[in-house]
Amino acid sequence: MIEINELQCKAIAERLRGQTVRADEFLFVPATVEDAQAEANYWIFAVAICQHTKSLEGVIDGRWRRGWDYLISASRRALNEFASAQAMSQISADRLRAILSDDFDPVHSTVDRVEERLGQLHDVARVLLDQYAGQAMNIYCRAGGHMRGKDGIFERLARIAAYTDPLDKKAQLLVGQLDAAGVWPLEDPQNLKVCMDYHAMRVALRTGIVEVTDPGLLLALKQKALVSDEINHTVRRAVSDACDRVIAHSGVSVFEFDKWIWHLGRSCCFYDHEPICGPRTCHKMDICTYIKAVDYTCLGKCSLDGACKGSRDDVYKAFWETNVYTDFY
Ligand code: SF4
Ligand code: SF4
Repeated sequence: MIEINELQCKAIAERLRGQTVRADEFLFVPATVEDAQAEANYWIFAVAICQHTKSLEGVIDGRWRRGWDYLISASRRALNEFASAQAMSQISADRLRAILSDDFDPVHSTVDRVEERLGQLHDVARVLLDQYAGQAMNIYCRAGGHMRGKDGIFERLARIAAYTDPLDKKAQLLVGQLDAAGVWPLEDPQNLKVCMDYHAMRVALRTGIVEVTDPGLLLALKQKALVSDEINHTVRRAVSDACDRVIAHSGVSVFEFDKWIWHLGRSCCFYDHEPICGPRTCHKMDICTYIKAVDYTCLGKCSLDGACKGSRDDVYKAFWETNVYTDFY
């Protein structure tokens, strides 16, 4: 149905080797145990509601932001609440809307699927209060710093509904972020994987690091037709494996690759316009996050132009990520 293209993984890795991913702007390295505990709690709540962030946008601290950037910048202003399992267990829909708005007025919030996110926050809080004395840091400590294995971090996180994705997108994002911040230094970092979301899928399909061999799936991906969870899982698994190959060929870390492909997917290869490569030149340099996150001197085209199949073949350019309803990413 879908296979890895090893040669293309090497070609993309070659381009990636020439670029440097800068430090993540949202990484905060705590200096005290209390701050580290607050970070662990903050991230477990923030990541739990990190799905379908498309509607989020506005001005936080004088800067226009969207999606994930908006979610993190806005929720950071309410760190005391987000770092408290007790506060999160009681947060209301209006309070969530207020936090995720420019001016703390719930009426001005652009957040969607509020009841779904509220349920996720309450569920995380319940598990933390019932099993971990309200501290996400205890998940890490009781797992002995191991992501995988019996009683590891992932097994423990899977008792929280938001963290039950079979491809572990949110769990990978959480541990990757906390490991990089020195809050949860991992004993088994070899188990870190790229977060499988719609940006990673779109870029992988267009670059040709995976090849779709099933005509029905090919059509569904081009036409944005709804696919089953099983097919979605198959596509995500193949893309994840292909990303592993690019990482192995390029020598970058999983954390760096994750940021790289994610910024690419929300900049040049975004879902609401034609890819910025081939004959097309850039129209969005002012809002591009790729050139902020990656050391790439952009002359108006994607850094993969020429190496990526989508930049020279309309069949690949026409790919979209799988179309499913999910709260996993
Ligand atoms: S500025 Fe360059 S990297 Fe950013 S979206 Fe435009 S072409 Fe892509
Ligand atoms: S070269 Fe074009 S199709 Fe390929 S990743 Fe970049 S923007 Fe997307």
